[in-house]
Amino acid sequence: MQINKYFKELNIEPISEVNIRERCEFANGVAMVMVEKLADYNLDYLKIVDILQHTEMYIAKIPKNLSPVNYSYLDGKMYISEDIKLDVRNEFVLHEVIHRIQEYRNKKEKLLQLGLCDVMETKIKGLALNEAAVQYIVQRVLNSESKVIDIYGMKIPTLSKNYYPILTNLIEQITFLIGEAKLIDSTINSNNEFKYDTIDILGEDTYNAIENSFEQILESNNKILKNTDKSIIEENIDLIKNIYIDIQNRIMTSFFNKEFKRIKSMEQLKKFNTKLLNYKDYIGSNEVQVLYIDFFKTMQELIKEKEQSFINKSLIVVKENKIINVFNRIKKYLKNLVFQN
Ligand SMILES: [Zn+2]
Repeated sequence: MQINKYFKELNIEPISEVNIRERCEFANGVAMVMVEKLADYNLDYLKIVDILQHTEMYIAKIPKNLSPVNYSYLDGKMYISEDIKLDVRNEFVLHEVIHRIQEYRNKKEKLLQLGLCDVMETKIKGLALNEAAVQYIVQRVLNSESKVIDIYGMKIPTLSKNYYPILTNLIEQITFLIGEAKLIDSTINSNNEFKYDTIDILGEDTYNAIENSFEQILESNNKILKNTDKSIIEENIDLIKNIYIDIQNRIMTSFFNKEFKRIKSMEQLKKFNTKLLNYKDYIGSNEVQVLYIDFFKTMQELIKEKEQSFINKSLIVVKENKIINVFNRIKKYLKNLVFQN
């Protein structure tokens, strides 16, 4: 009853069911491409096939204002617009398929977790973060290349230019800094590994700020799409810009400041410097934003200082070695004297 009402409200109208043969072929195709493109991350081929083979799929009439593919958590079925093909290379199809794969329920079929999103009794946490992570994986599987797009007066490099471009960019920044293995594992297998790693590397406050900022950006974006009132739209655009620049700055400074303190050798310092240099390819900017440049200059000064301290230390070690050598020679000489006597 509730499900019917939900679909009536959305205006989704099923036409026909995708037959079992087609569903199995599709399930195999998805599992194959995901395992191949994310070969470093031990994805479970059989598990993906099994989940998708047992997911009912319907060709449906779907209104243009909705995504052409919808996976429903209410009835566990996928609805695919009659206007598109059930093809793994379609980004909307792949996005919903990942939602299906990441779904984690208890024995009573109660939904508990969706990748990076916790579904708790009182509230849902990490919804926007999960959306961005899913979209990041979609673009990685589809081999997309990063493009700089103009959005709300900002220039942002992103793998996903049509769907969640700003949030996907922020995920790209995080994965560039801390690696993508845990992000992919946690998004697909619904565990907390990514959360724990991010908290370890960036700090708990920054993780919470990331979660909240993603939520706010998604909310404001929805308001922009739903409203026609110019002042509401402008207000939300400004909000997105401010939140984006703030959270980007926070991710950047917390990562590099914390990592800098952990450097113990010249080799680590060189790696750190390369990372700082390459990071510029991931950051977005607005007309007046010079945060990265300022931060970069400050960091370069600190790197130089640290480099000098490593050089000085190595000189001390050499000196010490020389002293030990001299001392050893004296010892030997004395020993010889003793023996001679
Ligand atoms: Zn989604």
